[in-house]
Amino acid sequence: MKDDNFLKENNARHMWHPMGAPGDSLEHPPTIIKSAHGVKITDLDGAEVVDAVGGLWCVNLGYSNDVVKDAIAKQLYELPYYSAFAGTSNPTAIEASYAVREFFKDDGMGRVFFTSGGSDSVETCLRLARQYHRIKGEPTRTKFLSLKKGYHGTHFGGASVNGNNRFRIAYEPLLPGCFHLPSPYTYRNPFNETDPAVLAQLIAQAMEDEINFQGANTIAAFIMEPIQGAGGVIVPHESLMPLLREICTRHGILMISDEVITGFGRTGHWSGARHWGVQPDMMSTAKGITSGYFPVGAALMSEAVADVFEKDTKGEAGIFHGYTYSAHPVGAAAVTATLSETLRLDTKTNAAARGTQLYQGALKLAEKYDIIGDVRGGHGLMTGIEIVSDKASKAAMDMPTMKRIHKAAYDAGAMVRLGGNNILMSPPLTISEAEIDTVLSALDVGFGSV
Ligand code: PMP
Repeated sequence: MKDDNFLKENNARHMWHPMGAPGDSLEHPPTIIKSAHGVKITDLDGAEVVDAVGGLWCVNLGYSNDVVKDAIAKQLYELPYYSAFAGTSNPTAIEASYAVREFFKDDGMGRVFFTSGGSDSVETCLRLARQYHRIKGEPTRTKFLSLKKGYHGTHFGGASVNGNNRFRIAYEPLLPGCFHLPSPYTYRNPFNETDPAVLAQLIAQAMEDEINFQGANTIAAFIMEPIQGAGGVIVPHESLMPLLREICTRHGILMISDEVITGFGRTGHWSGARHWGVQPDMMSTAKGITSGYFPVGAALMSEAVADVFEKDTKGEAGIFHGYTYSAHPVGAAAVTATLSETLRLDTKTNAAARGTQLYQGALKLAEKYDIIGDVRGGHGLMTGIEIVSDKASKAAMDMPTMKRIHKAAYDAGAMVRLGGNNILMSPPLTISEAEIDTVLSALDVGFGSV
């Protein structure tokens, strides 16, 4: 490994950062994380802080799970790679598909299609949704519905159903035939509706209207996150997902639950859809599937969707889609070990308890600081704090101030994430009560710095 000075001098000179402006990182060098233990990360200068971001909403088991690490290391020596394209398979992939299917059996999921990450999983669901209708004899069903403020990754399909302008605008024109419904965002919405139950009904009505306008027989699928993550941790009323499920079913539209963040216990349930008592037709997953230790995702199909593909008699069910690293044996070993550890540690139960603690603590901070416009969470370890420069007008806080809060909180012991004027938190599901207290006192220092 090169020395620290080399790393600092060369940081970002040759590497472009995802979600960052090239050039910007030369002037404002990123924090270089060199090691991690438990839920704590250590930077190049030796500062050790609690990682309230969980890597990127993904390190669900914390950084020190030896069962997963050993499984990865062992597999590397047994079989470091083989393709799972039709005609070949490998033992760890077979085992992993069984484990994933068992994990999501109560969500009605029957089949697993492995990918290399969340964007791939979303893309797989969108493409297979179109193919599903084609096999069924409804090739006009090609359009997609989604929610504003939703985040579905960065491939062209995912970006097209994405509901956040900043992930779209530079890459237009995107996929035609994608339409966006209002977000269940009570703090700001076009109806000025602050009651989440009423807002859920308005969104359901907007979906009905859009379906009637487009024609149900032109729509393939509706995709949503059970709790919107990157958009600012936007928690819908408990009635929303069931209402939209019913509308999709009635109109023959597939419901895709994007569980890239909410899957594997983060909401206090094993899936976000189960959290709201809904069975989707497809699920996109990634992140927590390996606790972030290896890049893996999975697109899941319900038994009914699988049936259409498997019972096709017209020769239209060939899946001409997939990735070199689909069902990668090392990734697959990481999946099986992660799921078994996730179940053994019952991470969802700790996520629920610590999530409540983090949310309640954030609400307390909101009583102390006028710059806190909105606090969202309370359903597992996903918390968003929206910062405003003026509470009455809800004017978004400027970025230099957001960065000051971020740095002050880091210096006081916690890494949090900025998403525009939101502070986003998604720590490992293994975090302790005392470590949540550390995060809250670091935030206190952060807000006090303004
Ligand atoms: N869907 C959701 C809900 C996500 O949060 C993300 C990533 N944050 C993605 C898709 C894309 O996943 P990836 O970054 O692994 O491609």
